[in-house]
Amino acid sequence: MKKEIESLRKEVNRLKKLAYRDHLTGLLNRRGFEDSINLAIDQYNSSDKKLTPRRGFIVNSVSLIVIDIDRFKKLNDKYGHPEGDKILKHLSKHITSQVRSNDLVGRWGGEELVVGLIGADLESAYELAENARIELKKSGFEPVYTFSAGVAGVNNQINTFQKLYECADEALYKAKTSGRDRVEKCKIKSN
Ligand code: GH3
Ligand code: MG
Ligand code: MG
Repeated sequence: MKKEIESLRKEVNRLKKLAYRDHLTGLLNRRGFEDSINLAIDQYNSSDKKLTPRRGFIVNSVSLIVIDIDRFKKLNDKYGHPEGDKILKHLSKHITSQVRSNDLVGRWGGEELVVGLIGADLESAYELAENARIELKKSGFEPVYTFSAGVAGVNNQINTFQKLYECADEALYKAKTSGRDRVEKCKIKSN
């Protein structure tokens, strides 16, 4: 009986992993990322957050970085789809290596990654993204590729995942239209 429970538990974990992880990169998939970041945003919004730290720390800020590989279509066309997949895997590892273990890294879809930083404000999230962008150039990975990113942080205007995503995505759009290979910040401030 004990053995059966143990194998059932393993099976549940396997299925959970399938439901929440992206197959190619091993990152959280859209569902896994959204569920997890919503927990953090809920905690940030909860009125008693200053009094009742959960799991040993208080969520006093949550930031989001939306990352998109530059001219990925061209890279795929030039080097082939399997090489494109290797770039995606490389970027996933690179970004994961730049964040703390309780932060969230997900594949939002295609060649777009999302990073949820728990306890980091807009400025520190911007610095992290900018640092990751520069460190990528030193990685020696070939073919050489770059990414653009948009960053947003929670405040009294931006207090849902949807608003956070929209603002970061707007900043990403600005990064793309002003030349790519750059990081831009969301402009909506608290009032
Ligand atoms: P931009 O700098 O504006 O982001 O240009 P882009 O070419 O990166 O953007 P676009 O949206 O035109 O193209 C995205 C490409 O990403 C097209 C698609 O074939 C490729 N792609 C999406 N998912 C995967 C994947 O899993 N593997 C590979 N190899 N390519 C993918
Ligand atoms: Mg894209
Ligand atoms: Mg792209």
